[in-house]
Amino acid sequence: STIISTLKESDDENRVAITPDVAEKLVHKDFQVLVEKGAGEKAFFSDQAYVDAGATVVSRDDAVSKANLIAVINQPDEATRAKIHEGQILIGLLKALVDTDAIQELAKQKVTALSFELLPRTISRAQSMDVLSSQASIAGYKAALVAADQFARYLPMMITAAGTAKPAKVLVLGTGVAGLQAIGTAKRLGAIVSGYDVRPASRGEVESLGAEFLTSSVSAVGAGGYARQLSADEQKQQQDELVGFIKQNDIVITTAQVPGKKPPLLVPQQAIDNAKSASVFVDLAASDLGGNVSGSKPGQTVMTENGAKIIGAGNLASQLATSASEMFSKNVQAVINDIADKDGNLNIDLTDDVMSQLVATDHGEIISDRLRDALN
Ligand code: NAD
Repeated sequence: STIISTLKESDDENRVAITPDVAEKLVHKDFQVLVEKGAGEKAFFSDQAYVDAGATVVSRDDAVSKANLIAVINQPDEATRAKIHEGQILIGLLKALVDTDAIQELAKQKVTALSFELLPRTISRAQSMDVLSSQASIAGYKAALVAADQFARYLPMMITAAGTAKPAKVLVLGTGVAGLQAIGTAKRLGAIVSGYDVRPASRGEVESLGAEFLTSSVSAVGAGGYARQLSADEQKQQQDELVGFIKQNDIVITTAQVPGKKPPLLVPQQAIDNAKSASVFVDLAASDLGGNVSGSKPGQTVMTENGAKIIGAGNLASQLATSASEMFSKNVQAVINDIADKDGNLNIDLTDDVMSQLVATDHGEIISDRLRDALN
């Protein structure tokens, strides 16, 4: 029968790509499931839980060499990649558009590599496979909690015998999947919340959460429901406008991304200098390339001269490892269901509208148009 495996991730990753629950469902469908020893430990799934689900706990070598499909969270290390061969399918957040060396190596080895970043997310059949959405939603939720935790005041209004505390004001910049979840979470914590985006379509979504939508003077709708990159003039105009919005808030959570591009700088130094003392900035877009907030560093908290905190969010989904793994694993299961025929053989139809984009490489060829563009 067809063999599905999952690997133990690197030390800085707590998630696992297949949970015992999904393993059990796969076993019911006559797949054989191999799990590298300790793969689920940091997400609180024991090896015993996998065995109880009908999976087999094996060494990394076996999990890599025996599988027809290997499911991972992140791109495996070089030594592991080198052992994956033609005819095997590798699926995960392979960073195809960013880590192009790794994906080209996999292409050379004729591995069939499916990179979740390439999923055409607006096709409705792809929604159950949408790892970017499931993990962004978790990151947005966690971002609001991190901000609340680092803020020296209450979020909700508090009326007590010792006096009344004003509710905190939270601004979310970039109201896609993560931003909307940050808004919902901050609202539930009792803050006064507003959202801002360059896609006017997001107004309804923000308002339906009971938050105010701050209209941007820049409209930047791009392809596939994403924002496009702003021109230098538009960016300047946006930054000037945001300085005013930002100084009225206590907490600013930023999530703005443009696919395949450096994240836009939304909070310039001037906005930080003008921010209220004790303000908290959480930058979900913080990366080695820079982020949405001037001076943010991924995985680090930077204190400014006027007492503001700039938190460069690291891998927030990994901090909610159990929920994140459950959702990731369901997304993986949806892909397996989609490509398995009635006998349980994995047959990817490269002419299919979802698979022709999700598949980065197959039999040595680059399949995804987006990836081919990125490589040229
Ligand atoms: P993303 O992570 O690429 O970006 C986050 C947000 O930042 C987006 O809302 C984007 O508009 C915004 N942004 C980018 N540049 C900005 C700037 N300069 N200033 C302010 N905001 C800026 O986006 P995402 O969360 O992955 O989702 C983006 C879009 O895709 C949304 O419209 C979402 O509803 C849509 N989507 C649709 C589906 C679906 O149809 N099934 C699934 C997922 C996402």
